[in-house]
Amino acid sequence: ADDISLQNSCQLDLEGALIARDRVGIQDFVLLDSHNSETAFLDNLKKRFTEDLIYTYVGILLISVNPCKELDIYTKKQMDLYMGVNFFELPPHIYALADNVYHTMLSEASNHFILISGESGAGKTEASKKILQYYAVSCPSSTLLDTVRDCMLMFNPGPAPIGSGPNDNSSRFGKYMDIQFDCQGDAVGGHILSYLLEKSRVVHQNHGERNFHIFYQLVEGGEEDQLRHLGLEKDTQHYSYLVQGECSNVSSINDKNDWKTVKNALSVIDFDASDTEHLFGIIASVLHLGNVHFDGDTKGYAILNSNAALRWLLGIHVQVLHEALTFRKIEAKSEEVLSPFTVDLAICARDALAKAIYGRAFTWLVNRINESLENKVREQQKNFEQFCINYCNEKLQQLFIQFTLKSEQEEYEAEGIGVKKHRGIISVLNEECMRPGDATDLTFLEKLEEKMGNHPHFLTHKLADKKTRKSLERGDFRLLHYAGEVTYCIVGFIDKNNDLLYKNIKDVMRLSKNPIIQECFPATEGDSRRRPETVATQFKNSLLRLTEILTAKEAWYVRCLKSNDNKQSGKFDEVLVRHQVKYLGLMEHLRVRRAGFAYRRRYEVFLQRYKALCPATWPHWRGVPAEGVEKLVQHLGYKPDEYKMDRTKIFIRYARTLFATEDAFEIC
Ligand code: ATP
Ligand code: MG
Repeated sequence: ADDISLQNSCQLDLEGALIARDRVGIQDFVLLDSHNSETAFLDNLKKRFTEDLIYTYVGILLISVNPCKELDIYTKKQMDLYMGVNFFELPPHIYALADNVYHTMLSEASNHFILISGESGAGKTEASKKILQYYAVSCPSSTLLDTVRDCMLMFNPGPAPIGSGPNDNSSRFGKYMDIQFDCQGDAVGGHILSYLLEKSRVVHQNHGERNFHIFYQLVEGGEEDQLRHLGLEKDTQHYSYLVQGECSNVSSINDKNDWKTVKNALSVIDFDASDTEHLFGIIASVLHLGNVHFDGDTKGYAILNSNAALRWLLGIHVQVLHEALTFRKIEAKSEEVLSPFTVDLAICARDALAKAIYGRAFTWLVNRINESLENKVREQQKNFEQFCINYCNEKLQQLFIQFTLKSEQEEYEAEGIGVKKHRGIISVLNEECMRPGDATDLTFLEKLEEKMGNHPHFLTHKLADKKTRKSLERGDFRLLHYAGEVTYCIVGFIDKNNDLLYKNIKDVMRLSKNPIIQECFPATEGDSRRRPETVATQFKNSLLRLTEILTAKEAWYVRCLKSNDNKQSGKFDEVLVRHQVKYLGLMEHLRVRRAGFAYRRRYEVFLQRYKALCPATWPHWRGVPAEGVEKLVQHLGYKPDEYKMDRTKIFIRYARTLFATEDAFEIC
């Protein structure tokens, strides 16, 4: 009973403050009356959304609902308002989160990351931009942060899947940014890790999809001289890699302006004229490559319909390139045999090359940016890092669950409910790709049925019951992801995973005069007999790396929700939002937050921060940290229900307890 009344009075206080500032709704779900009701949760979100209050907390997790319109809440004035202010003193804001992460990092000398997740178009990229903007303004010296932001803007452009949830600015790959601060709070270094690039988009787009924006930007925005120099026509329709989705022009995108952003970003990271020329040469070469077409000779072997496009390919001799695109060189013991490609194989080889060029140049660019962001003052490096990562997938969802709902998970495991280890789809796919002989997409599907057939989240036409079978084609499989069911078409899995580039094509690329291409196709690679990692393995490894990095930091969360599927401002699609609330586990998160002790601090950290508040711990506590903390909180008058102590940390139930302590601290 005591609990409840305490909580209520706390709620009244905050709400009172809120009504003045926020007008409607409750700004922290932890304070919501009807405890675990999803309907009340949605009502509150909706109420706030209607008043343009897009941010709401669940404890220290921030929910953001995409308003689909510009709001007047990101001004310099707003930034100033949030600087150095406690979490709950002002209406929820992404600036409040950014500010708290920053100050916690400085006061605790600990490493943090901000995980921004949500589905496509929910506002992840916008959120990370806002956070970087905030740091650029609030950190003591901020040129580096501007650079990081500019680089991110350059990367953001990606293709737009228009049919399904249109986001013209969709990122299509995860990026993880790491900013290092020194102990004064100065940003001194940074690092970007990109961990998925939808390379297939370079050569193929479905209806309504765009290729990567950079291609259109170059064609639309490039100066006449430059285009002439690159052999490009000022017409996106001219390039077969750009027209498949039939949507080169998207009204909300201004390629010409974005081109300026790209050029600006390049200059910020010290690209000189020749670097830029080489990079654009590569982008242009991909477009030219797409215009290389093949006819079949009488035996069905590929012959090039014209050499015209090859002239523009990276300064490689036309004849050599011609050969590499139409023949495969097989090295048998002491001789080389040229085996001609059929038209289909030649197209595959061409597309594989285009993807490789784009993908490698992309990686090269990321590395180059990292060099320019590298912390030059190593000795001073405190390695305080700030991660903004932008990705939403099973792995990160697992992490989220692991971090926030851990206690429940442990309970599950204790009761033996834990998920059994499965050999996953990726390992089956890799095995099939390695298998010599005639692995096809269909043999892969059969293997999947054999190995995964019993998994409750896996279904195919063959495995399905009569009713479900109707909705599944023979070449499909269906997975139940955390966000819902997705049906996958098996076609292309093997090829895409192999992403094979024949050795002779790689050798030919090495003849290029373009220095970036020379770095992208190093000679050492040609010697290696080792089979290159499959695409899925590379992806899995980079996620593993990411998981490792993140596990060593303190997590903060921004959960982005899409308000509707049509980018319509003011529209709150309840069904859609409810679905996201469900699969993002927000109700569970709330439950844990409510029941639990929301604020936790390691003893050392807590002591270090507040030791000045108690004579027994000031200026130094020489004993066991836990005992020091006990002394400290007793002196501060914490009630027994307000905190708990475990092996390494103190858990504090209410925000106000901690804030009271903070306030005492400020006064002293
Ligand atoms: P993807 O996963 O496809 O990259 P995303 O989650 O990064 O998607 P964004 O590009 O950040 O999505 O957001 C899509 C669009 O929604 C933005 O271009 C912008 O117009 C709008 N938007 C998102 N967040 C906000 C916001 N806080 N205020 C105003 N508009 C926003
Ligand atoms: Mg994005």
